[in-house]
Amino acid sequence: MPEKILIIEDEKPISDILRYGLKKAGYDVYAAYRGAEGFQMLLEIRPDLLILDWMLPDIDGVDICRMVTEQVNVPIIMLTAKGSIDDKLAGLSAGADDYITKPFDLREVILRVQAILRRMDRVQKNAEEPEKYAGGVRLYRAEHRVASHGETVTLTPKEYELLIYLLDNPKRAFTRDQLLEHVWGYDYAGDTRTVDIHIQRLRKKLGLSDHLVTVYGVGYRYSPEGDGRQQQKEQ
Ligand code: CA
Repeated sequence: MPEKILIIEDEKPISDILRYGLKKAGYDVYAAYRGAEGFQMLLEIRPDLLILDWMLPDIDGVDICRMVTEQVNVPIIMLTAKGSIDDKLAGLSAGADDYITKPFDLREVILRVQAILRRMDRVQKNAEEPEKYAGGVRLYRAEHRVASHGETVTLTPKEYELLIYLLDNPKRAFTRDQLLEHVWGYDYAGDTRTVDIHIQRLRKKLGLSDHLVTVYGVGYRYSPEGDGRQQQKEQ
């Protein structure tokens, strides 16, 4: 599948030249001549790269740049006749990845496009494969991040440590004191209620009620199969 590039540029001769060059370089190229139209196309096409003109008749290119980076993760090359360092910085701080000044050499544009797309490809390939756990929970250990059914869940440092400890020791029951000791350390002044509160929060935030199991008279256990409901019924 060829990578998709969207050009938002109101000057048709410039847009045409870019379109011609990029098509020849093997890309799927789309063109919009107004900012609003371009933004709409971006949401529909989901291009791999956006070439965005600074001066557009309806919306300022820098404003589009901000709108885009708020909603979509796409690299942006700003295109402009302006050459001052202030303008360049404004474009880059609005989220642009690169900057090309008009008049440009088509070969240079293509080289820059290729460089950015290669970089993006590397970033995607380096993305961490998550460890999979019950209930749609995914752990990205290197990123220190937990997701539930594809959505990142914000955990406090202690919630995170407690979760990791239980996940790393599946099917093993721990007393509240053991968990306190491992996660909070010997010096912690709080009581075992702290553990209960953190378990409750983890169950709620991650939808793990069936998997972070209460072991009556003991404490808690991570059950990959999910016997929480079963156990409650037996009570
Ligand atoms: Ca223009």
